[in-house]
Amino acid sequence: MLTVEEALEAILSRVSVLGTERVEVVGALGRVLAAPVVSRREIPPWANSSMDGYAVRAEDTGGGAVLSVVGRVEAGALAARTIGRGEAMRIFTGAPLPAGADAVVPQEDVDANDGHIALRGRVDHAAYVRPRGEDVRVGDRVLEAGTLLTAAEVGLLATLGHAQVHVHRRPRVAILSTGNELADLGTEPGPAQIPNTNTYSLMAQVLEAGAEPLNLGVAPDRLEAIEERVRSASDADVLVSSAGVSVGELDLVREALTRAGAELHLWKVSMRPGKPITFGSLGSRHVFGLPGNPVSAMVTFELFVRPALFKMAGRRRLTRPRLRVRALEPVPNPGSRRGYLRVQLETTGQGLGARLTGEQGSAILRSMVAADGLAVVDPDTTIPVGGEVEVLILRELP
Ligand code: AMP
Ligand code: MG
Repeated sequence: MLTVEEALEAILSRVSVLGTERVEVVGALGRVLAAPVVSRREIPPWANSSMDGYAVRAEDTGGGAVLSVVGRVEAGALAARTIGRGEAMRIFTGAPLPAGADAVVPQEDVDANDGHIALRGRVDHAAYVRPRGEDVRVGDRVLEAGTLLTAAEVGLLATLGHAQVHVHRRPRVAILSTGNELADLGTEPGPAQIPNTNTYSLMAQVLEAGAEPLNLGVAPDRLEAIEERVRSASDADVLVSSAGVSVGELDLVREALTRAGAELHLWKVSMRPGKPITFGSLGSRHVFGLPGNPVSAMVTFELFVRPALFKMAGRRRLTRPRLRVRALEPVPNPGSRRGYLRVQLETTGQGLGARLTGEQGSAILRSMVAADGLAVVDPDTTIPVGGEVEVLILRELP
């Protein structure tokens, strides 16, 4: 059986970054820049005031000087004239500094009356002035290819005049649930049926990973039916199925994938929950067969599909952050497979601590709902109270 690391390596070595497209700048949030951005602008474009006050010549401001106010300049306007010796100009935040001025005195630092201001002390050269190009210079390489775009980068791109941005394409991910027992959303489950969970949790995980889900619905446990659905997703980059990938007579997903033309690269990984998972190539598409139990499907998506989607989208950091925290109760992992146990995090006097979310059965979806992260525990190991436990973080910290 492969270790989680070996399986992930086998997957990532076969997955490559997708092509690029241009998207509108706000829509680029969460996407990865495909080309570096070099500024054609100076930001700010001219020296300007960072305060409401008076533009002055610093050299005129010694020992209780009185200056005459010769004009006014507001944000969005240019000063009508240059200021000369002994002169000042009323100025507002963001207004261009008038020619001749080299500093600003905040209005609260002067006594103003009758067209004059009396200064209370010396003003330093360049005080309260934001120089031209203080933030960005023409020719600055402000963003590198491969940058994950957050709100700050979106703001910078807009500042530099980019209404559209060149980014990597988002993976399109077709989701297929399999199983005779599944009643899909919108139909009331019959006597021996259960509701279809996985289509929806997996589609949501695809969205959370910044990719685009396509719903292929539910296929019954029949080879031809599964094969036909697999073939139908020809415009997807990735196909993710759930269930039917174990060793039972009705576990037909691997054979259906093979019949549809897929080459399967792995099966079975030493982990709990999970274990039966398959990954293969079908033309230019990648196919994942995840286990059917809702928690197993979500956890194997986290560990294998999400990093693959990130790599395709051009992201550099492919895995979730991990923290070492204190066990607030014993965290047992009996058995020979590595455990990924659902835990809740709590802030304690000694930093963050982890507590199991309760029953860890792979069909107990509420253990996932309650989980802030997955405690990664070696086989045949129980982490004692107060011991250090490594947690893969799934959501924002409490
Ligand atoms: P299987 O791998 O087909 O044996 O499925 C394992 C378990 O997961 C069974 O109890 C299935 O009923 C359940 N299961 C499979 N698919 C889904 C699904 N889409 N939603 C909820 N449970 C499922
Ligand atoms: Mg089944």
